[in-house]
Amino acid sequence: MPGRMEGKACVVTGAASGIGRATVLEFVKEGAKVVAADVQEEGLKETVQMASEISNGAVVGQFCDVSNDESVKELIERCCTEFGGIDVCYANAGIVFSGRFWDETVETFDRIMRVNVTGVFLCFKYAFLKMDQQGRGGSLLATASVAGIRSGAGDLSYSASKAAVINLCRVVANQCTGTNIRCNCIAPGLIETGMTRPVFDLVDQKGIRDKVGQINPTLRYGEPVEIAKAALFLASDEASYVNGQVLPVCGGLSSSHPVAR
Ligand code: NAD
Repeated sequence: MPGRMEGKACVVTGAASGIGRATVLEFVKEGAKVVAADVQEEGLKETVQMASEISNGAVVGQFCDVSNDESVKELIERCCTEFGGIDVCYANAGIVFSGRFWDETVETFDRIMRVNVTGVFLCFKYAFLKMDQQGRGGSLLATASVAGIRSGAGDLSYSASKAAVINLCRVVANQCTGTNIRCNCIAPGLIETGMTRPVFDLVDQKGIRDKVGQINPTLRYGEPVEIAKAALFLASDEASYVNGQVLPVCGGLSSSHPVAR
């Protein structure tokens, strides 16, 4: 049986840990060739090693800072030289600042926007240019967040950046009209990864892990692989008629009400 991603050349950013790593592994299991990108070289090596155990030679690692124009351009070029083109670009890398907005500095705010929003824009820009030239369509995908749909817990710039990602994807989908290049994003709920470790450490200290996990109707946290499965769907041809959408993968958090139960 051919895999669901057979023959597809993909880029995944933020691939050194969490959701990005889980996605690289799911893509490879389904027959994709992947350039895994991150600023964290140690984690990236581990991802490549893990993927090689599934399919040798299907993944290469590439240092890439998504906030840097040249670095992103090189990343997309690498995919084309290594795997003969690009079919999927998953702009997943992201960072967070948690705190009260009056404590946040302009430097932190700008950095969050630079990585979370400009990073997605750059990935899509350079991936689109190649995909359009190839003329075989493609899938542009980003990781937004439930924090971009409703208020985040304590993260002004992060929530604002993720709301921006959601609308950025809609505009990209529209501007890609007629190219067979689709653009969508995923809005994860609370997933245990490197990014949320400080949150989990705090809830553990307070002994409220179960209580916090139960803020959604599914009554638990999500796993990185549950986001990766959604990414797999949106990246693959199974989602050929899904375009310009935000898919919440959050156990129902985005549509829940505190007094529903
Ligand atoms: P993570 O910290 O495990 O992974 C994020 C990765 O992005 C890291 O490997 C990090 O090195 C990389 N990265 C950071 N800055 C970068 C840069 N400038 N260039 C390239 N790579 C960079 O966290 P995660 O939870 O797997 O996060 C993946 C995405 O999911 C992020 O966009 C995040 O905002 C989003 N998200 C996460 C959750 C959650 O609960 N974990 C919820 C909603 C959305």
